[in-house]
Amino acid sequence: MPKDSLRELYIDELKDLYSAETQMVKALPKLAKASSNPQLRHAFEEHLRQTSDQVTRLEQIFEMLDEKPTGKKCLGMEGLVKEGSETIGEDYEAAVKDAALIGAAQRVEHYEIAGYGTVRTFAELLGENEHVSLLEETLAEEKAADVKLSELAGEINSQAVQGDSTEAADEKEAAVDSKIKPSRGTSKRVA
Ligand code: FE
Ligand code: ZN
Ligand code: FE
Repeated sequence: MPKDSLRELYIDELKDLYSAETQMVKALPKLAKASSNPQLRHAFEEHLRQTSDQVTRLEQIFEMLDEKPTGKKCLGMEGLVKEGSETIGEDYEAAVKDAALIGAAQRVEHYEIAGYGTVRTFAELLGENEHVSLLEETLAEEKAADVKLSELAGEINSQAVQGDSTEAADEKEAAVDSKIKPSRGTSKRVA
């Protein structure tokens, strides 16, 4: 029993990731559709293709383990996807909305990076070298997706800031302002 328990945990964590990835296959098209910046939309579409490959890699591992990938729901990803939907529904000006979408997506990538780092280490400990290669491929894609989002944030965040300072007469700006001010008011200093 103690000898097999890490393998059981490993399979459980892989099932969790399988659930996480399949949730993202559904969520990424929505993030792409909500993006105004064409490069950001392209990045989400590109990562959707990678995510489908990641699902396939997990299926290959389950095949090798002679186990089924289903039966677990990743509640962490469910929460992140819900927050992402909340962000998609927000009424921000285009660049601000894109900045918010990047924030939501990077939370997902960091969550996945943690998950894949864990299972990669377990696979190493269990001597599952083929799994290690597959998991490291995915881990590299998640890290690259995170870097890509940071790069896009550099451009998009500066547009979001400029929008705030140069479109003062814009009606959109007024709408954004009225949205921001109440939340500023709630962050009172208690000291
Ligand atoms: Fe993924
Ligand atoms: Zn999870
Ligand atoms: Fe990802």
